[in-house]
Amino acid sequence: MSSDSDTLNPGNGDSLPAREEDGIDRQLSRLEKDYRELTEKAQNLLTERVYLENEVSQQKKKVSRLEEEIRMLRSPPHIVGHVQDRISDEKIVVRSSNGTVFLVSANQRIDQDLLKPGARVALNQDTLSVIEVLHDAWDPLVTGAEMVEKPDISYSDMGGIDEQIRLVKESIELPLSSPESFTRFGIKPPKGVLLVGPPGCGKTMLAKAVASSTDCSFIRLVGSELAQKYIGEGGRMVRELFDLAREKAPSIVFIDEIDAIGAKRLDTATSGDREVQRTLMQLLAELDGFDALDDVKLISATNRPDILDEALLRPGRFDRIIEIPLPNEEGRTAILNIHMGKMPKAKDLSVAKIVSKTKGFSGADLKATCVEAAMVAIRAKRKSVNAKDFRTAIERISEKKENSTRGDAPENLFH
Ligand code: ATP
Repeated sequence: MSSDSDTLNPGNGDSLPAREEDGIDRQLSRLEKDYRELTEKAQNLLTERVYLENEVSQQKKKVSRLEEEIRMLRSPPHIVGHVQDRISDEKIVVRSSNGTVFLVSANQRIDQDLLKPGARVALNQDTLSVIEVLHDAWDPLVTGAEMVEKPDISYSDMGGIDEQIRLVKESIELPLSSPESFTRFGIKPPKGVLLVGPPGCGKTMLAKAVASSTDCSFIRLVGSELAQKYIGEGGRMVRELFDLAREKAPSIVFIDEIDAIGAKRLDTATSGDREVQRTLMQLLAELDGFDALDDVKLISATNRPDILDEALLRPGRFDRIIEIPLPNEEGRTAILNIHMGKMPKAKDLSVAKIVSKTKGFSGADLKATCVEAAMVAIRAKRKSVNAKDFRTAIERISEKKENSTRGDAPENLFH
């Protein structure tokens, strides 16, 4: 080594080891640099590997999802039906969704306890044998409806409609809670009531309160949806809705905007009208089909009673009509007290003044006014709501009301 250095550095005895050291240092630092670079590279490759492994597993999952999708798309559709009776462990009577009754066999793997009359089942399209028991959920067709097992609205949440509450209690609650009093007197209670009145006056709320007070399931369907959304399916929807109501009994079926399916029948009907009529006919058939003392009750609502087909209003159908008009002063006071109940109020706030300035307001408008006034106070970072907040709110809601009622057909129908 030293001889090498000697040849490299002739005649400079002193500087030789220093230069040698220099060279070694340089080499060392180069090696260190290389090492750092390689470590970094290795680290990057490692990260990349982890990333790619992750990517591969993601793609694998995607492939299996897509394979599952393909499998589902390839599998034949199943027919939905209800078990009507069990003849033996293997033989079961089912009613398919189009109404035909079949005697079929059931898959032996199915839990026998689930195959009870009333259970919803999937049937093989060719053999109609029961493939599986569907869980107790909505039929996809009835998903347009709202269903609440027990609504949390009580009569005390409503103001100014005490008389209407009394009438509804008498027609719906009494037959449900003590049907024997009707049988004793040999009379039949109404099967359903029709609530009429302008929008936002508490028709839905009242129906929900009855359901809640009688521990009934609440099933709500909007007539216009029935008429438009399920072309060709209206009649079936009605039938399935009643099936569901019977299944969930005691229950209250609430048909909002019944005028959309229950308007007077005209001779010059278009095919769309004929479809709506079929839906109405099915509704009438269902109404006639169940007993007034059954634990399924019907409440329907409209703000156009003038256009309803009389067939709907015949005895044994919606033969009790309850009007819920716009609230008068007393009603508005009661409604405001309910919706302002929990609000921290400034001293200058007077309910009587709000009442006098909200003539023509519905319950929903009054609620919106309270919410708006509270929002004004919150935006201004105040701790309570004052008279000015309410003045602003009333102005805003009046404006909104004016814009929305402009051009409405049955103006002032209930005033
Ligand atoms: P629509 O005909 O538009 O369906 P509706 O008559 O069914 O209207 P609801 O949906 O029951 O009206 O009322 C809307 C809201 O207005 C309710 O959730 C409630 O907050 C308020 N409201 C309406 N009427 C009253 C009332 N009498 N007392 C208290 N609140 C009311």
